[in-house]
Amino acid sequence: TYFTDFGLAEPLARALADKGYTEPTPIQVQAIPPALEGHDLCGIAQTGTGKTAAFALPILHRLAANPKHRLKYATRVLVLAPTRELVSQIAQSFTDYGKYLKLTVTTVFGGVPIPRQERAMSSGVDVVVATPGRLLDLVERGSLDLKLVEILVLDEADQMLDLGFIHDLRRIVGLLPRKRQTLFFSATMPKAIEDLAAKYLTNPVKVAV
Ligand code: AMP
Repeated sequence: TYFTDFGLAEPLARALADKGYTEPTPIQVQAIPPALEGHDLCGIAQTGTGKTAAFALPILHRLAANPKHRLKYATRVLVLAPTRELVSQIAQSFTDYGKYLKLTVTTVFGGVPIPRQERAMSSGVDVVVATPGRLLDLVERGSLDLKLVEILVLDEADQMLDLGFIHDLRRIVGLLPRKRQTLFFSATMPKAIEDLAAKYLTNPVKVAV
């Protein structure tokens, strides 16, 4: 399998070529086609498997295929991850793969002055990558509206639970439209994670590497 087999939008194919990537990793082979079709995904994958591109590429393709005007204080994609390091890495991947698309990607995590993150939201963004706690702070201050989210990603769900984010996650998901695409990734799938996945996913395609 080659990336060209997926029919990704040309600006994405070009960004991949710049990176020197030609062959998708196993998780990408499994995840990209169903995600492009709009299916929910439940993936068991560790860091280092290429899972970030496995969700970022289909998301960027879907945004590019269906361009919309940015609305103030809104985002089309919400990616939740447990730590600021992971948030930064994920956002960098979206920026790299999306470099030939006119998209805005913003990070949200604690330890940074809130006004700066609020300003980033004011003209609207396409992709918000966030840790759950600070994201809720912004939502509660009215600086971000989640009603227009089309795609939700939960990355390293097991880590988010271990770090005590379950309550924040529940509240955030409760503010999202029911009709959305949800991509769920976890390194492990204990009962608590399976229950969470069952609650948030609709007829998910299961992928594992
Ligand atoms: P991740 O598991 O998402 O943290 O990715 C691990 C590393 O693999 C990152 O540095 C990616 O840039 C890189 N990577 C992702 N997909 C591919 C690919 N298809 N070919 C080569 N490297 C890749």
